Order: sequence, then structure tokens, then C-alpha cells
Amino acid sequence: MKIPNLDMDLMVIGAGPAGLTSALYAARAGLSVFIFERGEVGGQVALTDLVENYPGFPEPISGPELMERMKDQALRFGAQIILDEIEKMWKENKYVYAQGTEDTYIAKAAIIAVGSDPRKLNIPGEETFAGKGVSYCAVCDGHFFKNMDAAVIGGGDSAKTEALYLTNLASKVYLIHRRDKFRGEKILDDRVTQNPKIQLVLNTVVDEILGDQRVHSIKVKDVKTNKSSVIPVSGVFIYIGHIPNTSFLKGFIQLDKTGHIPTDQDMKTNMSGIFAAGDVRSGSLRQITTSVGEGAIAATRAGEYIEKEFGTKS
Ligand code: NAP
Repeated sequence: MKIPNLDMDLMVIGAGPAGLTSALYAARAGLSVFIFERGEVGGQVALTDLVENYPGFPEPISGPELMERMKDQALRFGAQIILDEIEKMWKENKYVYAQGTEDTYIAKAAIIAVGSDPRKLNIPGEETFAGKGVSYCAVCDGHFFKNMDAAVIGGGDSAKTEALYLTNLASKVYLIHRRDKFRGEKILDDRVTQNPKIQLVLNTVVDEILGDQRVHSIKVKDVKTNKSSVIPVSGVFIYIGHIPNTSFLKGFIQLDKTGHIPTDQDMKTNMSGIFAAGDVRSGSLRQITTSVGEGAIAATRAGEYIEKEFGTKS
């Protein structure tokens, strides 16, 4: 087992808003902190077009820009980023170990802020046409559908926000939701309802995504009448929630039945020295504002834990 000597007080797994804020607070408290990220720094927000409910930004700020600023702020105070995917964690003699694809790391405490991945519809055609018309990121792929018709599936704030974003590119956007009531913010309900480019298709499920080389249509069913029909679209954007990225933690810390991590109000998990923050936490509001707050609490409590258990910082 290769263990680089990093003198790490705190390991933060995940570089979204919760992870970057944890790192900022821990670094400013004088801890030696490393953030582990398997892909892009910034998490889901880096895939979001505009953020308009993060305080301090009266004008909307782009998701990637907000996350770049959070990263720069954490790094300015000494936090460091390691690009590695953590596959397993355990504790030995009070220390936390994290085995990545590159190395194994050791620290005095850990904050898990790994967020979640898009939930799949699991219908015929979804996998076949992934990247060929099926997408989970309108900001990344929307430009491929300029002046074409697209469908957004889902009835939460993500589906509404991304449907609105797509109206800047696509000629028409079908917003398909399995019920007749949306979840989330009312202001977004009003915007999608009033946008002339959005056609609401309510009480409707998508049964199949159809195409040849690429998507050409979707087969939908009205759940009230049981009638099926086909809607021609070139793009299908799926926004039906997220699944927490916690499979690597099974058997290490307690997870709830949806795979989220239960914590107390100090962000402590059931394992001493292991904290969780952000979307991955049971009951999280899943907002940037709450994630940064949870990150600040987790880092502060982790610092106190390190002081108590290990006496001095690295
Ligand atoms: P979400 O709120 O969990 O909504 C998921 C939507 O997908 C629900 O409408 C759900 O339908 C639908 N759905 C789930 N499984 C489905 C299936 N198998 N087939 C068809 N539809 C299915 O997820 P989200 O929209 O990703 O939002 C996550 C969190 O981020 C929320 O707290 C949200 O407020 C926040 N967010 C905020 C903003 C913002 O600008 N403020 C933007 C994006 C996200 P039902 O309603 O019938 O269950």
C-alpha cells in the first residue's frame, strides 16, 4: 500500500460547494487540508447555467464561475486538490484511510461531500442514445440542439431551470412531467408556464426513446387516459433527481435506505472523525446555500475533533 506523506489533518472528499467550503474553513483554521475530486471541480453547480439564489449576487452568476471562485478562495488559504477517485475508506488506530485509484491517503479526520449523480429513467433507448440525443446536462449539450425540438423530463427545479435555459437554443421545448404539480420554487413554475417556447406535457411518462443513429422521437403515455403517442424531438434531457455517490462507503459508515448519510446537527456521521456535508447528507435541502453552511459546520467540528483526539495540528 503506497501512502504519500502529506501530513494531512483533514481529507475532504468531493469538490462541490460543500467540499470547497469545508476546505476553506479548515484551511483558515490552520489545518492541513486536501480535497479529493474524481472529475471536474465544482460538482453539479459547475454544470448549471445560471445561479440566481446565491446571496451576494443580485445579478445571476454562471454556475462554473461561482465554483471557480469558491475553488480559488479555498486554494488561496492553502487547501490543495488531488485528482483521484476514492474507492474505499476505513479507520485504523484513530486515523482515516482512503484508498484511491492512484494512492492510499491517511488523515486525522474526513469530510464526505461527494454529492450525487443524475438518476436514470431506465427505459428502452436511454442507454443506446446516451450522447446521441440523450443528455443529463443542458448546459453541456444544449448547443447541439440549436433550432431543433427538445424534451426535458422531470418536474423539479432542475427540470424547470434547464428547460428555460434550452429555450435560448432549441426551437421548442416539451417539459414532460408525470404529475400535474411541479416540485420546488413557484417562481420557476410561473416562468415555465409563461414561456412561449415551452409546451407543458403533464400527467405523462416517457416509455421509450426512439431513434436511428440519433434520437428522433419519444414514446409517451398519458397516465390519466392510458393513451400513448409519439413526440418528435432531437434531444432528450433527463432531470429526475439524483442518486448519492456513496457506494464506496458501504460497510464503513451508516447510510440510509436511499444511500444518503445520516448526520447529527454537527454533521457527524455514526463513525467518529467522519463528517458529511451537502447533497449526500440525509435530509439535505440540496441548495448551494445550505451546502456551504453544512461545509462550514463540518469543517469547524472536524477541527475541534482533531484538536481533542490528536492534540496538535500537523
Ligand atoms: P427533485 O426536486 O427531486 O425533482 C425530481 C423530479 O423528477 C420530480 O418532479 C419527480 O417527480 C421526477 N421524477 C423522479 N423520478 C422519476 C421517474 N422515474 N420518472 C419521471 N419523473 C421522475 O430533483 P431536482 O429537480 O434535481 O432538484 C434537486 C434539488 O436541487 C432540489 O432541492 C431543488 O430545489 C434544487 N435545485 C434548485 C435550483 C434553483 O435554481 N433554486 C435549481 C436546480 C435544483 P415527482 O414530483 O412526481 O416525484
